[in-house]
Order: sequence, then structure tokens, then C-alpha cells
Amino acid sequence: MIKQNLHTHSIYCDGKNTIEEMTLEAIQKGFQVLGFSGHGNCRNIDNYSMDEENTQKYIQDVLTMKEKYKDQIQIFLGVEEDVLGQRFIKHQPYDYIIGSVHFVKVGEQYMAVDESQAITQQIVEYYGDFLSYAKSYYQEVKKIADYDEVDIVGHVDLLTKFNENEEFIAFDQEDYLKLAYECIDLCIEKGKIFEVNTGAIARGQRQTPYPHHLLLSYIYKHGGKICLNSDCHQKEMLDCYYEKSIKLIKACGFTSMMLLTQDDFVETDISDFE
Ligand SMILES: [Zn+2]
Ligand SMILES: [Zn+2]
Repeated sequence: MIKQNLHTHSIYCDGKNTIEEMTLEAIQKGFQVLGFSGHGNCRNIDNYSMDEENTQKYIQDVLTMKEKYKDQIQIFLGVEEDVLGQRFIKHQPYDYIIGSVHFVKVGEQYMAVDESQAITQQIVEYYGDFLSYAKSYYQEVKKIADYDEVDIVGHVDLLTKFNENEEFIAFDQEDYLKLAYECIDLCIEKGKIFEVNTGAIARGQRQTPYPHHLLLSYIYKHGGKICLNSDCHQKEMLDCYYEKSIKLIKACGFTSMMLLTQDDFVETDISDFE
């Protein structure tokens, strides 16, 4: 059985554990592949992201642990780049890049789409309704499709974080789905991998992963590729909702997921992950 997580934070950004603590926990939990994805420098907007100094320390630390534990686990150096952050060159120095949208423009400032129910409400009020907000949000996510350096689209429908009980919109609302589908189409066209992200479950805010199963089914039907990530901020949650997610992924039709290897991402039978 292969266990992989490519979305891992640490004390260098907003995570609770060191790179080594995460690594040891991953080994203990039976992971073969662990990718670190600290928040790339976006300090003008995001105080949790890594500044230049922290970025260098982060890179060094991950590379040191990669070498130290190479006989026990395959470690990859990645980064989670916000579309508002700096641009990277593919594979320098990162093995892979997750592209994410965490903010939308509200007047002259940016507000976090994943901060709280109250902030989401404020954003919706600014845009007039949730659909207009969704349009603006997915417009930002679409930009990820055009960044060649991005391998994985992070939590594609993060804007629904506080919509567990459809407080803002019905998940099957046609106009909403259309906005999401257009964005997904573009990302598929550019060969991006979508992550099934259990991060909000770990934080107790959602009961199922991103993307919503309707979007996940759509991704499957349109030939999109996926991987399973826990967006881990504390070591205990490294495999949060892992088995249930595999079931959900299979129920949506998938028979494979993408595995990161020394060479590149490789499409791998889902039974290898069970
Ligand atoms: Zn994120
Ligand atoms: Zn993250």
C-alpha cells in the first residue's frame, strides 16, 4: 500500500510542527511519500506565508530531513503558492508546486476566503450575493491554469469552507456549478492535478473534503487527474479522513490517482493506495 501526502505545513508558516516532527509522524503512520508545501512568500497580503529568510531555512530543513530519513520515507520539497504571491520557476528549487487562491479583492484590500463565517458573510455582502463572489473567486482560480510552474490546484472550491450546511449556496445550484465547471475545464485543459483536500475536516469545519463530490465527479468525467492531500497543519492530522476519502474518490468514478516519484507524477492504480 502506498500512502502519500503532498500538502504539509510546518512552523515555517502556519503549521504547528517542525519538519522533522512531521517526517517522523509520517513514517510512523506508514507514509511512503511526504511532500512539504509551506506557504510561498505573499507577505504583502498573507502574514502566515514565509518571508525570504524563512523560505531559505525551510528549504534547507526539508532537504536535510530528506537526506536524513531517505531510507524510511521519500520526502519532496514543494511550496503552496498563492496566485497573489511571487512567481516561481518550475522545479527550481521545488520538486512540485501547489497553486492556490486564499484571497479575493474587497475594495482596496484583500480578504481571506477561508477565515471565518463572519468574514465570508462580509465578502458576500460586498459582492452583493454569493454567485457574484463565486464568479470573482473562480476568476482568480482560473489564473492557476495559466501558470506553467503549477502542478496541483489547491482546494479548488475553498470559498465553500463555511457552507457545510449550504448557508450561502446550494452545492447543486446550476449557476454556481457552471462557474466551477468552467474553471475546472481550464485547469484540466492545462493538465493540472486537482487535490482532494481534507484540511477543513481536520479543523472541524467540514465533513467532506474539497472539492465537493459534484465537482469531483465532474473532474472524473472530464478526464481530470487527482491526488489525495490532508493540507496538514498538525502532525496528528496527517492521514485525516484518508480511508473515507479513497471511498469517496472511487464512488466518483476514479480508478487512479497521481503519485509523485523521483521523475515526475505517475498515474497509479487506486488499489495501490488502499
Ligand atoms: Zn491553502
Ligand atoms: Zn495549505
